[in-house]
Amino acid sequence: GAQTSASAEAAGLELHELRKSYGDVHAVDGVSLSLEPGQLLALLGPSGCGKTTTLRMIAGLEQPTGGEIRVGHETLASSTHSVEPEHRELGMVFQSYALWPHMTSFENVAYGLRRKKVARAEITRRVEEALEIVGMSAYGTRSITQLSGGQQQRVAVARALVTRPRLLLFDEPLSNLDAVLRESMRFEIRSLQQANGITAVYVTHSQEEALTIADVVGVMKDGVLQQLAPPQELYARPRTRFVAGFVGLANFFDATVLGAEGDRVRMRLADGTELAVPGPDPLDRPAGAEATIALRPEHFDISTDVDRSTTGRVALRGEVVSSMFSGNIIDYFVRIPGHPDEIRVQDFPPQRANPGENVVLSAATEHCI
Ligand code: ATP
Repeated sequence: GAQTSASAEAAGLELHELRKSYGDVHAVDGVSLSLEPGQLLALLGPSGCGKTTTLRMIAGLEQPTGGEIRVGHETLASSTHSVEPEHRELGMVFQSYALWPHMTSFENVAYGLRRKKVARAEITRRVEEALEIVGMSAYGTRSITQLSGGQQQRVAVARALVTRPRLLLFDEPLSNLDAVLRESMRFEIRSLQQANGITAVYVTHSQEEALTIADVVGVMKDGVLQQLAPPQELYARPRTRFVAGFVGLANFFDATVLGAEGDRVRMRLADGTELAVPGPDPLDRPAGAEATIALRPEHFDISTDVDRSTTGRVALRGEVVSSMFSGNIIDYFVRIPGHPDEIRVQDFPPQRANPGENVVLSAATEHCI
């Protein structure tokens, strides 16, 4: 019978040891990754981490200092070879939309097809189809200046889709929109990309946006990919403290590795407490190594009954510094003697402790990351 082996298929996008230096600044410092056709990668990281430079190299707007970029079986850039941006068959959507204000929606979307000398009737058909897909059929004759921000964004997406690109590139496309519109456009972009099966790279500094929109999230810091993983995995098993902080983990504890214990790792906290916590199996660090334990705010219980039994749990005693009520959730900030940062705890109402009260915090060891 016919063989269908995934490994025989061409990758949607492959970056191999991609680098870009500006003098001494290593903006992108050896990024390697592979996407399957139709997957959406979110590149997530703080300002200056190199995500835009990575995207611009894929687009052909920057020449890599080293490494390779491949789409399907074609090499777009390597040390010996670079395909011109207009021949890369990409669709791009920028933060600024980069639409021509004096042209109509229709003309903006048609522009790329006219440049490719597509026949007039074909242009009309495809532009109308693209405007239809983004729900902008009624606005074809409007000039860009007569559209709202959200409508302009849709035109920009239609323009990116109309040439039937192999790859869609998004650079913070929603940052100029208000929160409500941003959320609905996020779902629209995602469903358009999925319905058309186009491989995509989406640059953002918003953790929430990356986790909701992507098949795979790449977290970058200082030009280096810190972790590449599906959203659920990134959230459940961040590999570094930096990644953990980026996916909303607030509480970190310095600890020392003592050794493997079944499928767990025995660790000692700074106060001498020993815990067996879930960890990498096989254990990839020697006894004596420094490590960080992270605990999510929602995994702590808080109680003023400081003598209650906490056997078998992570337990910390301290004093509530402040609390914050936000309807369905209360946040508590608790000072623990000997711990540099306040511990953040999230729990449902009612209020369980007030500022100034002594409390015990406890969490199941299985929640330790
Ligand atoms: P932001 O979210 O602020 O756009 P970013 O993660 O996209 O940040 P890049 O724009 O890729 O970051 O920049 C990465 C690093 O490279 C930064 O330190 C930046 O100052 C530097 N850099 C980018 N472009 C140039 C350039 N043309 N010349 C010199 N340095 C540059």
